[in-house]
Amino acid sequence: MIRHYCGLMGIYDHEDAAKLTYFGLYAQQHRGQESAGIVTIDDKGLHEHRKLGLVHDVFSESDFIRLTGKTAIGHVRYSTTGISSTPNVPPFIAHYHGHNIVIAHNGNLVNTDQLRSELEERGSLFTSDNDTEVFLHLLIRELRKYSLNEAVKAVCSKVRGAYSLLILMDKTMIALRDPLGIRPLALGRIDGKPVFASETCAFDLLEAEYERTLEPGEMYIVDEHGEHSEFLSANLPAPRQCIFELVYFARPDSYVFNEQVYVCRKQMGWQLAHESPADVDFVLPFPDSGVYSAVGFAQCSELPYEHAMIRNHYVGRSFIQPSQNMRNFSARVKINPVKPMINGKKICIVDDSIVRGTTMITRVKKLRELGAKEVHIRISCPPIKYPCHYGIDFADERELIAAKHSISEITKILDVDSLHYLSVDGLLRSVMHSENYCLACFTGDYPVPCKGCIR
Ligand code: SF4
Repeated sequence: MIRHYCGLMGIYDHEDAAKLTYFGLYAQQHRGQESAGIVTIDDKGLHEHRKLGLVHDVFSESDFIRLTGKTAIGHVRYSTTGISSTPNVPPFIAHYHGHNIVIAHNGNLVNTDQLRSELEERGSLFTSDNDTEVFLHLLIRELRKYSLNEAVKAVCSKVRGAYSLLILMDKTMIALRDPLGIRPLALGRIDGKPVFASETCAFDLLEAEYERTLEPGEMYIVDEHGEHSEFLSANLPAPRQCIFELVYFARPDSYVFNEQVYVCRKQMGWQLAHESPADVDFVLPFPDSGVYSAVGFAQCSELPYEHAMIRNHYVGRSFIQPSQNMRNFSARVKINPVKPMINGKKICIVDDSIVRGTTMITRVKKLRELGAKEVHIRISCPPIKYPCHYGIDFADERELIAAKHSISEITKILDVDSLHYLSVDGLLRSVMHSENYCLACFTGDYPVPCKGCIR
């Protein structure tokens, strides 16, 4: 399973701020399942509830009695940097010279080791090993010299990597995207009040209106005087938004980077069918992530589309481990084939990606055991050959099957009759703004240099 770092939610000056933030996080649970937190602010100061767990486990009705205030920031997180313990649960909070500061971050900074040691040498004390805390310490230092807006800009000139941020200081909220716009952040409106979320599916649940996505490098500032926009610099680079949000991560009912995710995924399947048709009895999606590209593939190929793999939607993150002789249990417990559909059939599996290949090996083996005559695989993105350093938990390069093997080798490893991936060109033809995307996990062309990117 590929995991994402985070989902953000913020609302300004609304009577029901904490509850709306809760539902916004609930809609974005797919972006982080390890912890959830909400911080609100009123005249008495900050109120927080942050814990490890899923949104509906972390919050109970009584928590909202304490979460008073009309402005709130919320965060769901999956931790890949930093240990999974309560001090690491965002949003992060600081108190500085009578000011209350809150930060929620989606992304990954690539130069935090160096910045952290510089800060430690100058006396900063850290309570976690999270990169957001580095941002917070830098911000406090810059606030000695600048206003909040200028201090944020000064910090952004020092940090490198992917960051969409929600920052709250007293009565000012700032929503911003890094200069390349690697991670998403959208602006909506509910009852006339501004609301921010990583994905617009959060707005739909709140019945908020989606206004627009923030631009790469844009700071959207809301305070007692109103709302306005500034940019981190006058000379911003060309955007490099994460195309994998559209391939896999974002919910298909969301708009991300001004693209409708369902439409993009279906188009990826359509392009794939053009590039690599399959002579089969039916198209089989691997639920849930492969479903939308499989629809496009089947429609373009004029082939039947069968849900012959059924997902168990009630599998938790962990379960009592089965005895040793129940091999591949974790793969089987999540998804199970409809046996009579498989025997004697030529099948084309469509899925969004292959990372390590282990799950695919198990599933193909099962289809063979059930008598599939031919098994073909079509993948709706190019081979993932390089790790991501900007907030997606791809495996170590040594574990990526496409980093170590050619497509013909992978075909043999998976024991399939054919295997084709969508080309980079085909992927870019599936989106509207093709010039604006990061493709580094497919091409190795990293938009922000970092230690791990050097080949
Ligand atoms: S390397 Fe891949 S997953 Fe990471 S930001 Fe770029 S496109 Fe997204």
